[in-house]
Amino acid sequence: MNNDKAYMDCAILMAEHSRCKRAHVGAVIAVDNKIIGMGYNDSPENFPTCEEDGCMIIDGHCQRTEHGELSALKECLRKQKDVKGATVYVTHQPCFYCTKFMLGLGLKEVVFLNRYPDERTPKAFYMMLPTYELSKLTSERKRYLG
Ligand SMILES: [Zn+2]
Ligand SMILES: [Zn+2]
Repeated sequence: MNNDKAYMDCAILMAEHSRCKRAHVGAVIAVDNKIIGMGYNDSPENFPTCEEDGCMIIDGHCQRTEHGELSALKECLRKQKDVKGATVYVTHQPCFYCTKFMLGLGLKEVVFLNRYPDERTPKAFYMMLPTYELSKLTSERKRYLG
């Protein structure tokens, strides 16, 4: 089994913890064949969850949650792990905000499973932060260019 598949399977398991009714998104951050952070989309600590207070829909998206990839990055920061050069595995294509954040942190690449395009993301970002779509059937990577 290749690492891409193993890490994405792990991200899929993480997604099951999400309490947002709109989307369950899981993420895993790995570097040098080691997982350094895992997360899923959920309310920030001490903030009501989507299960408790319902989703907060603005512009067709739930704004209550912190996104899965940011949740995984937060774990890396808490554990003082250097994320530079790491790969982010995420079940859904990242939004523009997360993409900018990941690019700024010096992450090496993003691998996603489900397309969830954000029309705000300029195509140039996919050149700066190499982004790959993982095939559900073969687990092969395909470069995503927007
Ligand atoms: Zn929600
Ligand atoms: Zn996001």
